[in-house]
Amino acid sequence: MGGRVGRCRLVRGCQGAMTQHRCLRSPAMPECGRPVSRPVPSRPVPLVGGARAATLPSRGLPVSSEVVMRKPQQLAGGSQRVCLNLLTPGLKVTRFQFHLKKMEFSREKRLKARLAGDRRGDLYPHSLQFYLQPPTENISLAEFENFAIDRLKLLKVVENLGVSYVKGSDEYKSRLEREIRKLKFPFKALVEDDYDARRKDHISHFILRLAYCQSEDLRRWFIQQEMDLFRYRFNELTGDLVEKFLKYVNLSYGAISKEVKEKLAVQLLSSTPGLSGAKVEELEFYKVPLQEAMDLFRVRRVYLLNAFAYVPQTDIVAIVLNNYRTKLSKALALTARSLPAVQSDERLQPLLNHLSHSYVGPDYSIQKNIGKISLEHIDALSVKSFPLCMRQLHKALRDNHHLRHGGRMQYGLFLKGIGLTLEQALQFWKSEFIKGKVDADKFDKGYAYSIRHNYGKEGKRTDYTPFSCMKIILSNPPSQGDYHGCPFRHSDPELLKQKLQSYKIPPTGITQILELVKGMHYQLACQKYFQLTHDVDDIGFSLNHPNQYFAESQKLLSGGREVKKEPSEPENSQQKPSSQKSTSSCSIPISSNTEADTELEGLDAYFTED
Ligand code: SF4
Repeated sequence: MGGRVGRCRLVRGCQGAMTQHRCLRSPAMPECGRPVSRPVPSRPVPLVGGARAATLPSRGLPVSSEVVMRKPQQLAGGSQRVCLNLLTPGLKVTRFQFHLKKMEFSREKRLKARLAGDRRGDLYPHSLQFYLQPPTENISLAEFENFAIDRLKLLKVVENLGVSYVKGSDEYKSRLEREIRKLKFPFKALVEDDYDARRKDHISHFILRLAYCQSEDLRRWFIQQEMDLFRYRFNELTGDLVEKFLKYVNLSYGAISKEVKEKLAVQLLSSTPGLSGAKVEELEFYKVPLQEAMDLFRVRRVYLLNAFAYVPQTDIVAIVLNNYRTKLSKALALTARSLPAVQSDERLQPLLNHLSHSYVGPDYSIQKNIGKISLEHIDALSVKSFPLCMRQLHKALRDNHHLRHGGRMQYGLFLKGIGLTLEQALQFWKSEFIKGKVDADKFDKGYAYSIRHNYGKEGKRTDYTPFSCMKIILSNPPSQGDYHGCPFRHSDPELLKQKLQSYKIPPTGITQILELVKGMHYQLACQKYFQLTHDVDDIGFSLNHPNQYFAESQKLLSGGREVKKEPSEPENSQQKPSSQKSTSSCSIPISSNTEADTELEGLDAYFTED
């Protein structure tokens, strides 16, 4: 305050004295009552519909002003009108309008401008990678979400194809390539200009790592699918590219020279099963330290000399995969340790949680058939069109006249999804409960509330969506006295077998289902159950949701869909080996982000909030 005293120049008309920086009459609010105008720091303003941010000019805005951005209006010719309201206490609302001309901002152009010259090549020199370095660039939340969902779709396809076809068969490869191309991941070993695809591959892998490191089950599933995807892509590499890749990931296995190969030809031929003389000549052989080729050594499939294994190109994939698996599982364990930090980020946490439940199809919250189901039909429908989880819940309800909370939630929301109105649901549950130990009064006071809650009529008024298979399989496992959950996941195999027998599933079918269950392919086991109970060879969809099961069953039974059915055959001949059995479409019925309701829809709203 000891500066030179002069006249206040902050507010026009103020006669107060001021030091170098402050008006002495009223430092914060001079006598004239007008707020002191001074520069304020830049404030990012989220743009409607995305995570981009615009920065308003900082100078000249009163400190206490609020900026409210209106949704941009589309004008003819592609330009936009953007309105900003400036709210300053004590002053009129000031409205600014900007006309933004349509700009040719294709992502490609921006990227090209940003990544001119060699930098593109430096970032992703190879179409395949071990994902050793996490991405460091900034990306929008919308892109984050899209990348994650696309990779999830791809991994789901990998899982389905792996069970439906022999891995590495032509059918398997062509279907997988089609899907990879459709989702815009790198599909050819060395397409020069696939920077976008490689970037997407890199970033999406790391996002799913965050979502899938959270439990042992999730980690195992993620590693399995990533390994299968990697195997397919590695096998697509030609000899040159294999070497380039090995160098890139610091696996220093050099291919042996022609001379060495000729010298060792006899030993290579005799110690490597499945090779002919011509093949030995044609294939590259890699010199690998013995400790890294123990799997091949254990099954006597490799030639050893001086603590080195001479591995043919066709087997090198096993060694690379081993290496990749070790790295990936270590990385997942490390990621799990840093999860608390990631989960504290309120933007990412809901998205990651939804991803780990991995349902990306329609949510069945919109009841297309509302009111079309009558209560008298539920018993018959439960036999014909309910998936096993819901059939089990329905039976338990009829037998015990009661279901515990987990069962009421799972079954109640399913019934809502197939079209039961709130009134029907109240009547249905009440009529069953009062046959047991609950009287009508107790039902009205205790249970009716939670049914209305499910329909969004109580509490937070959230219109709850029916549970997807992954949600049922991965969360809230049933305990003693519970009937919810997925029988393929949560039942003891012996009990499951008995249940399937009681439902007249043929013995070969039961064996196939149990095989799938053993391999932890629960949804595929359920698809098999659908196939057997509907007597079709090709179910024509990939199951992700109990309500999808119901809808597809109804469509099929009402003749609304043509399903290929072979002429009736003896029971046994209908069952094929699981690796060959299904010709079902392998693309998951996933809606695009913009067209269907998804479980992530709430997040969309969250991301686009003003
Ligand atoms: Fe139900 Fe899905 Fe399990 Fe089938 S796979 S029983 S639909 S949870």
